[in-house]
Amino acid sequence: MKKKIVILGSTSSIGRSLLNIIKKDKKNFKIELLTANSNYKNLISQAIKFKVKNIIITDPDSFKKTKIICRNKKINIFQNFESLKRILPKKVDYVMSAISGIGGLLPTYKIINRTKLIAIANKEAIVCGWPLIKSELKKNKTSFIPVDSEHFSIFSLIENKETNDIEKIYITASGGPFLNLAKNKFKKIKLSDALKHPNWRMGKKITIDSATLMNKVFEVIEAKNIFDIDYKNISILTHPKSYVHAIIKFKNGLTKFLIHEPDMKIPIYNSLYHKTGKSFKNNTLNFNTLNNLNLKKVEENKFPLVKLLNKLPKNSSLFETVLITVNDYLVYKFLDKKINFQKLNKLIHKISNLKEFQKFKKIKPKSVDQINNLRNYVHLKIESLGI
Ligand code: NDP
Ligand code: MG
Repeated sequence: MKKKIVILGSTSSIGRSLLNIIKKDKKNFKIELLTANSNYKNLISQAIKFKVKNIIITDPDSFKKTKIICRNKKINIFQNFESLKRILPKKVDYVMSAISGIGGLLPTYKIINRTKLIAIANKEAIVCGWPLIKSELKKNKTSFIPVDSEHFSIFSLIENKETNDIEKIYITASGGPFLNLAKNKFKKIKLSDALKHPNWRMGKKITIDSATLMNKVFEVIEAKNIFDIDYKNISILTHPKSYVHAIIKFKNGLTKFLIHEPDMKIPIYNSLYHKTGKSFKNNTLNFNTLNNLNLKKVEENKFPLVKLLNKLPKNSSLFETVLITVNDYLVYKFLDKKINFQKLNKLIHKISNLKEFQKFKKIKPKSVDQINNLRNYVHLKIESLGI
């Protein structure tokens, strides 16, 4: 029987990688739904190529254009996620959640009761809304696989093991383009320098987060949420080749590493073919890299954002939404060349430390609306500061 699947954010780099995998094994999959925000041309061509009957396109202008272009095609076009029950009357087998930003939380949350398994790449949803996602997964007996490479590695290393057996988790960071740059040269960093990631090809926003190491701050929060491990038991190591993704030191004296080439296709493929035993082709072991792992502690004076981890509350709170929003807002200012790299780092610290945001450290997220409203509030607050 064909596996029924959905891709939220099918025009994303993750979504496109997944479709490339499915392309080679079309006979075993039926795609029930694809979604995008504004990239209607790509979405329509994906729908035609993979014979998909349902698409969601959220941007109003793009929705109108899609309606016109597809008027003679047998494709149902929706503008929001309200009709998921109608589109998916029965649970599908697999959903990939690959929308970027907090905007991905609502669709991710809403689709959990429409699928047997959900693979989540959208890290903002896990960082901001984990308590909501976790209880929805449990309520609907839906399985979950993390797709972010470090978390997929941890997931693979501890499958069928109690997290109580873990002493420490190390997640690796390539260190981005500035790992070996002298601190006194940071003031000269240009946008084009920050966009040159040494190992991974990703969207611009996450590439900047990798250059500041904010991406690792989010990944530590993700790991703490998904695996229910205290912050004090999770550390970051820089590792320029991005070959090792996670290291777990168990209490029984054993330590396990997970290695693979820095290509998101590997965790995506393994989430899709989980427990099927299907082989991944062209997978060679790179001994040169293995002999040169170069794992080191993060230099916090060069990458000050990792210090934010010392100020996070032990339990999930609304403050994580503040942090994601502040970072998002300022990264786009940096991408628009309105602030420089050092100011980006300074302002993230300064604004997230504002007194009025501290109270959110004590509030547990109760609904997706509450998280979205807080994001709007934080946006307005930063705008009012004239940034
Ligand atoms: P991209 O920037 O390539 O794509 C984003 C996707 O989300 C597009 O399909 C976009 O549609 C859609 N989208 C954006 N905003 C909205 C919205 N408000 N409503 C509905 N759809 C929306 O993303 P990436 O593939 O780089 O990343 C996806 C997620 O995976 C992110 O959360 C990222 O942090 C995470 N991730 C990515 C990795 C990577 O290697 N890229 C690695 C690990 C995690 P449209 O094309 O129409 O704009
Ligand atoms: Mg990652």
